[in-house]
Amino acid sequence: MTPTTFEAMPLAAPLHRVLRELDYHTPSPIQAQAIPLLLEGRDLLGCAQTGTGKTASFALPILNALHERPRHATPKSARTLVLTPTRELAVQVAKSFGTYGKHVRFRQTMIYGGVGQNPQVAAMRGGVDVLVATPGRLLDLIEQRHVDLSGVEFFVLDEVDRMLDMGFLRDVKKIVAMLPVKRQSLFFSATLAPNIVQLAETILRQPARVSIQPETTTAERIEQKVCFVTKDAKRPLLERLLADQSQADGARLTIVFSRTKHGANKLAKSLCAAGFQADAIHGNKSQAQREKALDRFRKGLTPVLVATDVAARGVDVKDVGLVVNYDLPNEPEAYVHRIGRTGRAGAEGLSVSFCSDEEFDYLREIEKIIRMPVPVWTNHDHHDPSLAERYARGGRGSVQQRPQQGRRTFGGGGGGGGGGARGGRRPSRAGR
Ligand code: AMP
Repeated sequence: MTPTTFEAMPLAAPLHRVLRELDYHTPSPIQAQAIPLLLEGRDLLGCAQTGTGKTASFALPILNALHERPRHATPKSARTLVLTPTRELAVQVAKSFGTYGKHVRFRQTMIYGGVGQNPQVAAMRGGVDVLVATPGRLLDLIEQRHVDLSGVEFFVLDEVDRMLDMGFLRDVKKIVAMLPVKRQSLFFSATLAPNIVQLAETILRQPARVSIQPETTTAERIEQKVCFVTKDAKRPLLERLLADQSQADGARLTIVFSRTKHGANKLAKSLCAAGFQADAIHGNKSQAQREKALDRFRKGLTPVLVATDVAARGVDVKDVGLVVNYDLPNEPEAYVHRIGRTGRAGAEGLSVSFCSDEEFDYLREIEKIIRMPVPVWTNHDHHDPSLAERYARGGRGSVQQRPQQGRRTFGGGGGGGGGGARGGRRPSRAGR
């Protein structure tokens, strides 16, 4: 049985305390599965990517062990080694250890290239409990005898798929060869291609496998397009898409995402005024109202549903052929959840995102996490070439700020299926 609350997990008091302070109550799926296995000392092969709560899934059990079995660090050595492909990820992981380990006594440091090595050498002199490092510089410092890996008890390889893409395979193998045989090893990758599994087999001992189906695997079946448009052109473009969609042969239902509840209401009203059967669901509507709206949507009576992210979580409706991001989400993970509303269970789906010049940064964040550019759709009446060009040149668009990240919740989306061929005017697959 996987625990459904952090309270039910046998973690030490300082960790329970920090989780309360962070307002984390429900473990994400990977945390629920991985933490108990790791607390038992198992090796782990995890298929999961950033945004799934993966970092806490390894940081919490490691911090737990460091707390329960405190030891004087040996000079130049590290009890925990986390290898990451990039400096950015190293910083992020170290920050997470700092956050989750706020009430645990432990020492940590980072080693990465591109900066002077002296502070890193100095930080390693007395030894640390947690070392987060990128492979190249770590090997440099090992060769210069500033770092010694013979005392590693916990070894984490994070984002292995990216590590291999970046050509670190040889470095990783060299590093693994220096680790003691007796250790607990954790291996995380967003994909488990055969070469990755092969590498895992040389590192892990009878690992438990945990796979959090990243919704991006769904995303691979979904045709994604972005339209660069001015704010004013969003409404007419949406109407055009909906008119085409209503003529489609296959999955006719459309979900339109709006960032705000107010925006969702306004948009649904104006679509109704323009002759579309549309309804809005968002957090201000009662459960009964939402269910009624969903029921009518499912039956095709109102084939257009305007939704906010929260309301759309878990919407399990077959035959959603089109998802429109009327506003781009300010949290990139939401994009993956949104487009996962279509193309379910092997079906084809289409996702069209509108990007005005205020949303450039959101689009860039999204492209970072889906690790591909969203193909630009130019073949429609509202395409704004100057915006598209500015984005392509790396322009920043107008005012943009990532919001403060508040409390986050994890929850899966629904399943479903349906779809099929679609007629009407739809973007070509060119440029994928
Ligand atoms: P990660 O996949 O480790 O990069 O985590 C993604 C984000 O989710 C981070 O901002 C974490 O702070 C947050 N987070 C991780 N676990 C939880 C949880 N159980 N509840 C709420 N937020 C979480």
